[in-house]
Amino acid sequence: MVLTPFHVIPVWPLYARWPRRWDLLALSFGAVMSDVEIITVYPIVRTWQAGRGIMHSLLGVFTVNLVLVVLAARYLVPWIATRLDRRFPGKGWRTFAGHDFVADRKTLQVTIGSAILGGLTHLGIDLFMHYDTPLLWPWRAVPLAAVPWATDPTWNVAIELVAVVVFFVMVWKWLGK
Ligand SMILES: [Zn+2]
Repeated sequence: MVLTPFHVIPVWPLYARWPRRWDLLALSFGAVMSDVEIITVYPIVRTWQAGRGIMHSLLGVFTVNLVLVVLAARYLVPWIATRLDRRFPGKGWRTFAGHDFVADRKTLQVTIGSAILGGLTHLGIDLFMHYDTPLLWPWRAVPLAAVPWATDPTWNVAIELVAVVVFFVMVWKWLGK
C-alpha cells in the first residue's frame, strides 16, 4: 500500500498551479479520507478483508467520504489552524504554497469538486497497489486491480521509495510556506 500521507502527491500540485480553481484542504483530505476506515471501522467490526470497504468505493467517494471531507475542509481544519496560528504565531500554520488557506475560502462547488477528485485519485492509486480495491462496493463479483503485479513487493517498495522523496520535496517546498 502507499502510505496514507503520500496520497496527497497527485493533488497538491493542482493547488500550487491553479490555487483559485481548487480547494487545498478538500483536495488533501479527499485524497487521504479513504484510509480512515482502515484505522477506525474495520479493525473494530473485522468484516472486510484488509480493512477496505465503502470508503474505498466510488459510492463512498460521493457520499460518506464527501460529507466528512467537506466538514473537515470547511470547518474543522480551518478552526484548528486558526487556533494554532494564534497560539504559535509566525509558524505557517495557515500557509501553503504562498497562500493563506484559511482566508482562501472557496465556493461549495469548488470544495465538493476538490473532495471528489481527491477521492478518485486515492482509488486510482490503490488500484495499482492492491490485489483488490472494492471500487464497486457493494456491487461486485471479481477482485479489482489495475495491474496483475499490484502486490508485487519490488513494485511496492519502488513506488514507496519514489513517493517518499517526492512527498518530502513537496512538504519542504509548500507546507507552511
Ligand atoms: Zn487506501
